[in-house]
Amino acid sequence: MTDVADTERSEAARKLFAGPVEFLKSAPELKFLPDQDVPEIAFAGRSNVGKSSLLNALTNRSGLARTSNTPGRTQELNFFDVGNPLRLRLVDMPGYGFADAPKDLVKRWRHLVNDYLRGRTVLKRALVLIDSRHGLKEVDRDVMRMLDDAAVSYHLVLTKSDKVKPSALGALYEATKVDAAKHPAAHPRIFTTSSETGSGIAELRTAILDAATS
Ligand code: GDP
Repeated sequence: MTDVADTERSEAARKLFAGPVEFLKSAPELKFLPDQDVPEIAFAGRSNVGKSSLLNALTNRSGLARTSNTPGRTQELNFFDVGNPLRLRLVDMPGYGFADAPKDLVKRWRHLVNDYLRGRTVLKRALVLIDSRHGLKEVDRDVMRMLDDAAVSYHLVLTKSDKVKPSALGALYEATKVDAAKHPAAHPRIFTTSSETGSGIAELRTAILDAATS
């Protein structure tokens, strides 16, 4: 790809995300999913990984996505429409990995997410968010395996990059790359982002638009 094409793509992504972004609906069960009429990009991550902050940073809004720290109140998929005319839909999946989440809640989460991942032909890519301070945990690998099994291509995104030293971030990036290579549906391109400084946000916007239009 030429530099000019790169610049055009990133400008198109910037414009798209600077334009209309609207909350569409929450789906606590599959029967409430919206029609499959536009490409979807789904966001997954352990609770507190910075998922809401990243969604807000990508869309230049402060209150689009909100977290609830109460396990059990976040067992739904939230859909956000991007663009007018509509170009793509961002899907905020419920956070996982609460320290002492009740077993039936974890089971519900798996059912909802698995059913969504397996049946969704418009789902073009998932983003699995990993806190740069903690790296990949077993519960993340579990989700990566779910995505592998569902054949949903995903990027790993190292969030809160401002919280760690560049040398530690570099080491984490390399280690994560090695891990990703073991997963058939993991995309080799890994992102590092900071919703605080804006680092990596423009690149991720472009990747989202690319995935939605591929
Ligand atoms: P969620 O539970 O995954 O939606 O996480 P939130 O977006 O609510 O973020 C959890 C906490 O991490 C909040 O206190 C945020 O302010 C903080 N946070 C999120 N993203 C960043 C980031 O990029 N840098 C820093 N320094 N803090 C962040």
